[in-house]
Amino acid sequence: MEFTEKALVLKVGRFRENDVWVKLFCAGRGVITAFAFGGSRSRRRFSGCLDQLVLASFTVGMSRRGAYNVLQEGELLHAFPGLRGDARKLGLVAHCLRFVEAVQVGQDGARHVFDLLLETLQALEAGSVAAEVLPLLFKAKLTFEQGLKPDLALCVHCGRPAWDHDCAEDDDLDPAHRLAFSIERGGLVCSLCDDVPAETLCLESVRVLEWIGTSRPAEWPSLVLEPDTRRELSRLVDRFVAWHLGLRWENGTYRKI
Ligand SMILES: [Zn+2]
Repeated sequence: MEFTEKALVLKVGRFRENDVWVKLFCAGRGVITAFAFGGSRSRRRFSGCLDQLVLASFTVGMSRRGAYNVLQEGELLHAFPGLRGDARKLGLVAHCLRFVEAVQVGQDGARHVFDLLLETLQALEAGSVAAEVLPLLFKAKLTFEQGLKPDLALCVHCGRPAWDHDCAEDDDLDPAHRLAFSIERGGLVCSLCDDVPAETLCLESVRVLEWIGTSRPAEWPSLVLEPDTRRELSRLVDRFVAWHLGLRWENGTYRKI
């Protein structure tokens, strides 16, 4: 069965003299592997498409016995020149691409993740001072959208409001006010449930977690974080991803744990 679909090239490798394999993130199907026979020579069929970080419209068929995907042709849509020429941004992009690959996005929900990834790449390409935080926000939002959105209003143990016992108004709370977050239960724990194992989190971090749920990548570069808050969020998101998705970043790649 043949299909034509917009896809982002996550990885490319060569085998035999002229043949190429690609790992594609297809907008409506998730991540697939396909073979482009003669791909390294054919400019007519694949002009500029067989490179990592290329967005193209690919036509994919099946091998004669239906055992693997065969790339028929590609039409280049965007090659992200603003990312390609910037080693620092490419490092941030690589982190996002490896995460998508590790999450093993299937057909269900692929479109959502695809749009999120493209918007993140566009925000990175548009250039900004706060770009370093984008992979963290991308990772958190993608994870939350896998049905894992943390509960930041009610205590995940007793169901009481999680953080307004001591203050009538939110605005009275100092941003450095410490709250407790249970990784295992996926949300805040109130001060009355202090026997539940939890990580401490400042109010600013909780605000950022809330904002990740409602914002889009184009807004992310406006976020300015104190180094301590960034470290705290980064640690929390990494632990959350490890616990709920079973993925850990090790030596430049994600490993299943
Ligand atoms: Zn509680």
